[in-house]
This record gives sequence, structure tokens and C-alpha cells, in this order.
Amino acid sequence: MLRNQLEMLVALQDLDCMLREVEDVKALGFEVPGKVDLEKAREELARQISPPLLSTYERLRARYKRAIVPVKDNKCLGCFMRLPTSLGARGRKDEEVITCEGCGRILYWLD
Ligand SMILES: [Zn+2]
Repeated sequence: MLRNQLEMLVALQDLDCMLREVEDVKALGFEVPGKVDLEKAREELARQISPPLLSTYERLRARYKRAIVPVKDNKCLGCFMRLPTSLGARGRKDEEVITCEGCGRILYWLD
């Protein structure tokens, strides 16, 4: 269940990054026809993510370009802080949302 939520959040983040790119292109004075499709896809995806998780994500996105980041070799790939091994054991169980103690980003385990 949670794994699914995090996967959807990663997909949401991808869409947000794409939307940001679209905004950048628009700022240069070009029309971007696909923007409405992107916004619709984002809206539909956001509806399926639990409200507390979504609001954590939105709050983090005000600070970081990427609010949810992978963990590799017990390291947060957002700030490269080494995380306690016990955190990895909890994170891999996919029963709770774990945030980095260093930067506060939402974490998901790659391995
Ligand atoms: Zn971090």
C-alpha cells in the first residue's frame, strides 16, 4: 500500500518537474500545447495520494526541487547524509513514511 503511495509520489514529482520545464519554456515566449494534459495527469495522480503525504510533499517542494529522493547504500541522495541502518530496515518495510534527518526530504529505498 505504502510502496504504491511512494511510487505515485515519485511519478507526481516527475510531472511537477515536467510542468516546471513547461513554465520555463513559456517564460521564453513559446506556447506549450501539452501543458493542459500534464496538469490533468497531475491532478488525477494527486487525488490518489493520501492528503497528509501530499501536504508533506508540497511543503518540501517549496524548499527543494526534489521532495522525494532515493536512498542508496544507506545514504540520502538528496543531501548525502549517512542514515542509520535501522532506518533502512524500517524504510524497506514500506509501512511508514520516512524522512531524512539531515534535509527532511521523503525517502525511498532503491535496494
Ligand atoms: Zn537528506
